[in-house]
Amino acid sequence: MSIVLLGVMLWKLVSADGSHSRENQINYSEFMAKVDEGDIKEVTLYLGQNSYDLWGRDVRSDRGFHLTLFKEAAPAVTEQLREKGVVVKIKEERSADWVLLLLNGLPLLLLAGFCLFLMRRVQAVGWRGTKWQPRETRTGIGYDLHRLEEGRPLIVGGIELPFDRGPVGHSDGDVLAHALCDALLGAARLGDIGTHFPDTDPKWKGAHSLLFLEHAKKLLADKNFAIEHVDAVVITEKPKLGPHFPKMREALGKALGIPAEKIHLKAKTNEGVDAIGRGEAIAAHVVATLSSR
Ligand SMILES: [Zn+2]
Repeated sequence: MSIVLLGVMLWKLVSADGSHSRENQINYSEFMAKVDEGDIKEVTLYLGQNSYDLWGRDVRSDRGFHLTLFKEAAPAVTEQLREKGVVVKIKEERSADWVLLLLNGLPLLLLAGFCLFLMRRVQAVGWRGTKWQPRETRTGIGYDLHRLEEGRPLIVGGIELPFDRGPVGHSDGDVLAHALCDALLGAARLGDIGTHFPDTDPKWKGAHSLLFLEHAKKLLADKNFAIEHVDAVVITEKPKLGPHFPKMREALGKALGIPAEKIHLKAKTNEGVDAIGRGEAIAAHVVATLSSR
């Protein structure tokens, strides 16, 4: 934008430079004809070193015209004009061109400066509607645990993994999706997963948990929040989760409408300790960072 402004400014300067020297120059008889017709009622005589410049404004066309006079001819012409009732003002030679250029360009320079200031300001605090509001960053935490039972499908991060046990739960028991949903809702101060998808509601029985994330995405969008980053750790003794992370990140990112790069996943075991360590449960911790748009 500043390049465009600079271009406009240069154009303005160049056009200002050329406008008074050639385009509006007329000869003596043309000038006098305008005076006789009453189109020029006031003139200014600029006294230069070698020649004088006579300027008058045509009141009918509202354009300025000028005429270069020899010094010697100036007194007679001045006298003639006064006799015709024209007001004659005499001034020293007009300001040097660079002063004119500066005066012409100054408003544009100020405008360019203001635009730059505005751009910096928008980058710094963000623009929301017609009000300035500081950009806000929010963090939310989510945790979930499900018991594992034989013969149930193991779904983590929206992906079904080959395993002989799976989570017990009202929905599909996806600990990663549930903890992620809670982290997002927490960051946006929108309650938790139980508020929005109560396990007493038969509608959510066996529901695919990516649906919860799709709903969370809409809630965040309504509040003008954008998801900046998600970091998660899934704790289970078996199976190995690492090889499935790319697919999980894709599935979660698609449900949330964000690139998979914004989702970071880690896996842990519990070293054989407690229910998770004994393979009786699976758990996930998630931290999500949002920014207001
Ligand atoms: Zn859950």
